[in-house]
Amino acid sequence: MRKQVIAGNWKMNKTHREAEDFIQTAKNEVPSADQVESVVCAPFPFLQKLVEETEGTNLEIGAQNMHFEESGAFTGEVSPVMLKELGVKYVVLGHSERREIFKETDEDVNKKVHAAFKHGLTPIICVGESLEQREADQTMDHVESQVKKALEGLTNEQCAQTIIAYEPIWAIGTGRTATAEQANEVCTHIREVVSNFVNADAADAVRIQYGGSVKPANVDELLSQSDIDGALVGGASLEADSFLKLVEAGK
Ligand code: PGA
Repeated sequence: MRKQVIAGNWKMNKTHREAEDFIQTAKNEVPSADQVESVVCAPFPFLQKLVEETEGTNLEIGAQNMHFEESGAFTGEVSPVMLKELGVKYVVLGHSERREIFKETDEDVNKKVHAAFKHGLTPIICVGESLEQREADQTMDHVESQVKKALEGLTNEQCAQTIIAYEPIWAIGTGRTATAEQANEVCTHIREVVSNFVNADAADAVRIQYGGSVKPANVDELLSQSDIDGALVGGASLEADSFLKLVEAGK
């Protein structure tokens, strides 16, 4: 049985104070780590404090991006070494906002995934189609290509440890959720892609999250699907009460 992983993606939100209030409320309320993995992916300036405050609890902290280089002349970037040193466990890579707004390519994402494993961080790799691609019936091909390019060159064990987040771009922040069936159809396809591209064991182990307007009202139905192993959540992860309902659903 794959353990569900519920990850909040705060994006560029919250003040330091708000971040701390959230963590104080949530850190001792999340279910045991045997039941569900509960993760908050916070902006860089909050990471150190949040890691310290959640030490010894079942709440883990992740970053939302990083560079693939370890150090050097990359003004404004944060390296995997720095994240590891802070005690961060997860890193979101290739989010559609990074791909669209900051022009990250599949090649960048692949380099970042390699760097994450090199430094002991668990990558949450985001893939997903635009509305235009869905309407042109290109969803499966597009997602397949993104998954293969992201996993290129990894060992079978690394592929098995990866978390893939299927996030249809048209459902992100729009209030328009993919139906549970639509979401599961693509997640099943992603698992088949991993099976063919890597092997059956990796496909069985890899966790595939759904993301895109997940909220307490729709999370149960999404998580009950055969190939959905968790959720990557933006808007509904910003309030501790709502985040706690989502992690409860992952038990
Ligand atoms: P949303 O964002 O839950 O606000 O739609 C999801 C995401 O971008 O990861």
